[in-house]
Amino acid sequence: MKVLVINCGSSSVKYMLFDMATEKRLAKGVIECIGLPEAYFNNQFTGSEETKESCKAKNHIESVEIILKKLLDPAAGMIKNIDEIAAVGHRVVHGGDKFADSVPINEEVMQGLKECFDIAPLHTPHHYAGIEATQKLLSGVPEVVVFDTAFHQTIPDYAYMYALPYALYEKFHIRRYGFHGTSHKYVAQRAAKLLKKPLQDTKLITCHLGNGCSITAVQGGKSIDTSMGFTPLEGLVMGTRCGDIDPAIIVNLLDHHEITPETLNTLLNKKSGLYGISGLSGDLRTVLKAAASGNDRARLAVDMFCYRAKKYISSYIGVLNGIDGIVFTAGIGENSPTIREKACQGLQNMGIEIDPEANNGVSSDERVISTAHSPVKIMVIPTNEELMIARETVRVLTNA
Ligand code: AMP
Repeated sequence: MKVLVINCGSSSVKYMLFDMATEKRLAKGVIECIGLPEAYFNNQFTGSEETKESCKAKNHIESVEIILKKLLDPAAGMIKNIDEIAAVGHRVVHGGDKFADSVPINEEVMQGLKECFDIAPLHTPHHYAGIEATQKLLSGVPEVVVFDTAFHQTIPDYAYMYALPYALYEKFHIRRYGFHGTSHKYVAQRAAKLLKKPLQDTKLITCHLGNGCSITAVQGGKSIDTSMGFTPLEGLVMGTRCGDIDPAIIVNLLDHHEITPETLNTLLNKKSGLYGISGLSGDLRTVLKAAASGNDRARLAVDMFCYRAKKYISSYIGVLNGIDGIVFTAGIGENSPTIREKACQGLQNMGIEIDPEANNGVSSDERVISTAHSPVKIMVIPTNEELMIARETVRVLTNA
């Protein structure tokens, strides 16, 4: 069974094609700069070189059309007939409190997605456009939406509510939703395997550290708290996002500094975090390099990033009343020994002891990087959100 996974952004469409009998990825690609003259298509069939070509993609439907044409290209021999695509799984960032699980797409779900436009205006309309595109081009093929927020729907009310007037929750659904759910769920499942424990008996802290960063407390395979909130802005210091700040700073800026809500939004989401502090970049590699060569603001950005991560890890140890393991994943979590070490530094009293040699070892495999006697196992587990979406698609359709 071949499953196509689609992830639509405002100006990009990413895809992966999986053979679910083996869970092998057959192809992946991305069309960027949709609607612009410089639109291009990067594609890779597993086992072949990556190709890059410019393309004319005015919108999401044209982008999906280009992807399907590529998959059907007889020279590549990836698929002979469009019917070979048995199902499509769509990543959707925000399911609000309407969707607590992945769902097969039907008219009611499409209506529910429309009702989520307000809550995630930067994401949901583009996901919606992507679904409309595949529905048109792959008519009759069953489709499933998989939400970044769904995994966090098990968070109890005292953890997802903000201490604001209750009416804001009732009228505008303002509450913590959490994000990166597919990734947290995937690595928690893999960690249980690595620990050789049933998932329902594990207590884990999963750290998804990429351009966006979030940390989740996972009890028995269920999210019970997470650092991102109503939007993906809350919580950790990120590439260009500020994470937790005193909300009165926003009022102060609006009142006294003639800043518009739009500029403020850009400031908090695009001009803050590692970039805002270092003044250099939101890319950790650049910031680490600058810190190593003596740039003090780069040093400060890295220290703040790790300190905030450590605060969340420590507080979730309390929330979970002790843990079996900590998982690091995503671009930074998988690749930066420095960040992993600093985020775990000084937590020996909580049973967290990193093994410097294992931590510094270069590998793209799932691995344990704590010392042999560390009560808490520290793990690096590469995330695989697209495979998880493909799995969810199969699960939902076979249960339907
Ligand atoms: P992601 O959003 O998961 O693609 O992660 C992107 C982040 O991972 C960027 O901040 C990159 O600088 C960071 N990253 C990727 N590779 C490395 C590496 N080898 N060392 C440090 N950071 C890395």
